[in-house]
Amino acid sequence: MVQQIGTRCDLIMFGALGDLAQRKLFPALYQLECARLLARETRILALARSEVDTDGARKRLASRIRQHVREDELDEEVLAGFLERVDYLCFDFGDEAGYAPLNEWRRRGGGELIVYMATPPSLYGMIARNLKTGGCCNESTRVVVEKPIGHDLESSRVINDQLAEVFNENQLFRIDHYLGKETVQNLIALRFANNLFATQWNQNHISHVEITVAESVGIEGRWGYFDKAGQMRDMIQNHLLQLLCLIAMDPPSDLSADSIRDEKVKVLKALRPITQDLMETHLVRGQYTAGTSDGKPVPGYLEEEDAYKGSSTETFVALKAEIHNWRWSGVPFYIRTGKRLPEKLSQIIIHFKPAPHYIFDPDQKHLANNKLIIRLQPDEGMSLQILTKDQGLDKGMRLRQGPLELTFSEAFNAQRIPDAYERLLWEIMKGNQYLFVRRDEVEYAWRWVDQVISNWEDHAASPKRYASGTWGPVASIAMITRDGRSWYEDV
Ligand code: NDP
Repeated sequence: MVQQIGTRCDLIMFGALGDLAQRKLFPALYQLECARLLARETRILALARSEVDTDGARKRLASRIRQHVREDELDEEVLAGFLERVDYLCFDFGDEAGYAPLNEWRRRGGGELIVYMATPPSLYGMIARNLKTGGCCNESTRVVVEKPIGHDLESSRVINDQLAEVFNENQLFRIDHYLGKETVQNLIALRFANNLFATQWNQNHISHVEITVAESVGIEGRWGYFDKAGQMRDMIQNHLLQLLCLIAMDPPSDLSADSIRDEKVKVLKALRPITQDLMETHLVRGQYTAGTSDGKPVPGYLEEEDAYKGSSTETFVALKAEIHNWRWSGVPFYIRTGKRLPEKLSQIIIHFKPAPHYIFDPDQKHLANNKLIIRLQPDEGMSLQILTKDQGLDKGMRLRQGPLELTFSEAFNAQRIPDAYERLLWEIMKGNQYLFVRRDEVEYAWRWVDQVISNWEDHAASPKRYASGTWGPVASIAMITRDGRSWYEDV
């Protein structure tokens, strides 16, 4: 028999037949099975409201796994073995009596208990209380919760307080799935394993940083949910601020969860508030109108199904963030994220300052700064744009900009890059919290985002329109052009 190397776990999944669980979590668990990372005794208890038996639930999960795993990665025998691990129970999570069978199930196993709450965050507190009352958890239980933790500082505190009534902080794994991406992990390796970059990573050598997270899709049937949140709460408060923290943080003293998270919190605390007087120069909100996506006509945000025609929710944000500390003084971080942009793309660009004295053709001076491009998707990888001499006798000392390229799929012999959720689930099973967000990180991020939102509400400007299939409102280009720069669009 082939050895499985993972730790033995009992995983209880609340909301196991929901979108996230079926589209991401079960396919990720299946991949861990394929990679032999699930211990032989590991069991999964799927919980949801649908009235099906274990067999029915397994069939549903199998069909969704087949749908979301690439054909060449699908092994029916492994899948059948994986589904054997899954039991299913149907009950309403508000019903205290429904929790008794969880203890029964636990008694038959005995691995580390992991509780995954793949439910709306409004249920986290109730589920935690019911687990405690039912005697279904203890001080070693690991608890996984999804974003968003609240929709502002106050509501996030309520959720965090409810969880803290039952669990200690070191039991809580708050997911931001961006932290599970290979390239995001590589940011830590790049910065802290290469002295070449470590010495350059500050305001002496870096002129500015760009972070773009673009989606080509629109609202995808989630209008009601999205309209209450908007792009600022849905993307910037979590994913983009996490990326910013990983780029900007000081070197941690070690790789422990708290060392890394302490450094991230310092960055969040040092973010300059975007006050009323900075609204015009530091922030652009947009909302998409009709246009094209992949060559097909698509409706505007206000014409989507279920849309409220008067909504002023933003589907695009561009902002200029400043970090008030020695390392980053005078280095703006231009951040933009939006829906219905020309393509699905996530990338970070570190723009280095030009050499202090320039001696080449004056007409090539605009080339004279190195860029480090970190691609999160598509084609995870990194490329360092450097200048060399152009080849050929006729070129003289003409410069040429070219990449030192590391595309992970090529560099690592086309090994598949694990999905973020595979890594996150694997780290949870090992009990490692460094890829998860601590309470104070969530709250400092909300504090900053809340003040931006409250200022724009006072400012009373509606979001600027942009046609679907474009890079957002013209004002976002003007924002960066005013500083003598432009968005990097060589993609
Ligand atoms: P869904 O609504 O699709 O799934 C939630 C699941 O919980 C459903 O199976 C639902 O059952 C079940 N549920 C809700 N209330 C109860 C209850 N009282 N008793 C029993 N079961 C209940 O949500 P998602 O899967 O989309 O999201 C889950 C979490 O993950 C949320 O916190 C979300 O913010 C987060 N998230 C989701 C992402 C995604 O891509 N979907 C991405 C990032 C985060 P029923 O079907 O019967 O209503």
